[in-house]
Amino acid sequence: MSLLTIDELAVEHRSPGRPVVRAVAGASLTVRAGEVVGLVGESGCGKSTLARAVCGLNPITEGSITFEGQPVTPLGLRRRRLTGIQMVFQDPYASLNPRRKVGDQIADGLRVSGDRARPADLLERVGLPREFADRHPHEFSGGQRQRIAIARALAAKPRLLIGDEPISALDASAQAQVATLMRDLAVDSGAGLLFISHDLSVVRLIADRIAVMYLGKIVEVGDTAEVWDDPKHPYTQALLGAIPKPDGAGTLPAELAGDVPDPANPPGGCRFHPRCPLVMDRCRDSEPEFGPVACWLHEPK
Ligand code: SF4
Repeated sequence: MSLLTIDELAVEHRSPGRPVVRAVAGASLTVRAGEVVGLVGESGCGKSTLARAVCGLNPITEGSITFEGQPVTPLGLRRRRLTGIQMVFQDPYASLNPRRKVGDQIADGLRVSGDRARPADLLERVGLPREFADRHPHEFSGGQRQRIAIARALAAKPRLLIGDEPISALDASAQAQVATLMRDLAVDSGAGLLFISHDLSVVRLIADRIAVMYLGKIVEVGDTAEVWDDPKHPYTQALLGAIPKPDGAGTLPAELAGDVPDPANPPGGCRFHPRCPLVMDRCRDSEPEFGPVACWLHEPK
């Protein structure tokens, strides 16, 4: 049974005098216990909005999110700590309280879970010295702060850990280390991990399955090796083509034509059709609303 089930989720942002933005427009996805699912796509595609809805931080417009069989609804901070879902955010500088020692911040999570471990034990698990517990966040690098944020999330013993672009603010050298650490710690504790990133090469390192999101929809989902070796959706192919190759002597990464369209005014038919090199007449009129590859070239028989 799935730990997390997202079914036809829609999330709209409304602000006075502005058009409604349907940031998530009918996305479906599952995460099982002990499984790592990588959610990828360009910035602005709705990945973070989806993550925040899973944590109860964004109200749901349509569809449903179920965690351990219970519907997820918007929650206050205190109750959210008790849900079994923890999130590691993009900015390790903003996510820690600058005035409190990191040990005290980790201890908050330990109190919630009733864990008898000490903050220094958690720091050790994320590869940091035990004595760091007595220091304040400004004394650390970005990579160290993100490790501290992971330790704080783990202290609450989550059954689902969500990383919302947790490596995008880090140096290249720290990115793979932090991503692998999140995977190892989540899987070792039997938790699921939903890892959101625009960096497909890091997601390939750690994810069991990859889900590709475009303009509020999941357009392809599959086992990581299969998607990596044989991407089916033209958007997935373009994302993979845009990764610089280590052996690509002098070849520039392929550019994906055009920008992501305005989610307040998405194109009709297939949302990817204005940028798709394989577009057909049918794609302009009719939206392919099926999985695992939402493209008319891969319609299920
Ligand atoms: Fe391209 Fe058509 Fe497939 Fe959309 S449905 S990705 S426009 S081929």
